[in-house]
Amino acid sequence: MPLTEIDSLSIVAIIDNELDPISPCQNSLVTQTGGIRELGVFSPHDAPDRGEGAKEFRMSSICCGAHGLSLMITATKGDKSHTLLFDTGPEESAWERNAKRLRCDLSTIELVHLSHWHRDHSGGMLRAIQMINEAKTASKAAPSPSSASPLVVDLHPARPDYRGFMGPEAAVSFEADPTFTEIEDIGAKVSKSDQAHTVLDDFFQISGEIPRVTPYELGLRRGIRFVSEKKAWESDELIADERLVMVNLKGKGIVVFTGCSHAGAINASKHAVALGNGAPLYAVVGGYHLADAEPAQIQATVDAFAALDAKILIPGHCSGWRVKQEIERKMPGVLVPGFVGCKYVL
Ligand SMILES: [Zn+2]
Ligand SMILES: [Zn+2]
Repeated sequence: MPLTEIDSLSIVAIIDNELDPISPCQNSLVTQTGGIRELGVFSPHDAPDRGEGAKEFRMSSICCGAHGLSLMITATKGDKSHTLLFDTGPEESAWERNAKRLRCDLSTIELVHLSHWHRDHSGGMLRAIQMINEAKTASKAAPSPSSASPLVVDLHPARPDYRGFMGPEAAVSFEADPTFTEIEDIGAKVSKSDQAHTVLDDFFQISGEIPRVTPYELGLRRGIRFVSEKKAWESDELIADERLVMVNLKGKGIVVFTGCSHAGAINASKHAVALGNGAPLYAVVGGYHLADAEPAQIQATVDAFAALDAKILIPGHCSGWRVKQEIERKMPGVLVPGFVGCKYVL
């Protein structure tokens, strides 16, 4: 099913590692809001004892950084919009705090996508589902199609019992991801897929497993998974269940959302272009997982982004500062660092 060409796209970073509510956006193709200026000007808190019409800007309106990613993505075509939640961050309390501070209309979220089974992307999921469903119930006084239909959670079927990494002496386990049963019991409809498919009126495409074609993107070093049946840890460096989300922005091209890029940010970008029926790469948003990469991989990645002629790069989460520096050096004006609490309109 081909992707619908959408007119516009907004991305709200409910969870990301970094916070910078002051720096202006340097890429003229992106409108970025959510900084201190907007938080102050549009504050819901009045300061009636401090001159006529004065607002009080509260520090508690600023989001907090957390190691993970959660993006609320709204795609619009004409008078129709669809909203997808891409990942849910590492902790329920972090997701709840930031979603409340952002005053997001959670009732508009129709589908939750998990990029891959890692706790920094799945940890907030159960609370997010609860809050989205509560918002849908509260908005039933004025029902919309999105508030009436059940919330879908789109997942890769191969959920590991546990994931972690091999430390110098022993395995280090992450907390378990939510189970399929926990997700359904809390009020969502689980949809499992390891194949490319479109969702929400074909506004979004979710990939299957991402082909690994570059020689320099080798997965997660020392990644392991625990197999309960065998009571043993196994090497799991590929993180093969990682999937991307993409949209086709009319007249501009493909916007790719990548969770942690264990598959490689360039493998993800190339795969999105291959799925995109000839549309060029326009933007890549999410974790590039280059924070601990060798310098040669960072350079090869940015060279490949330049060859693909990406117009907007929004690295967040696990990307690390070195790739941002390299993007700014080789592709001036393209970089838009991903910051929690910001809204990006493309
Ligand atoms: Zn990961
Ligand atoms: Zn991650």
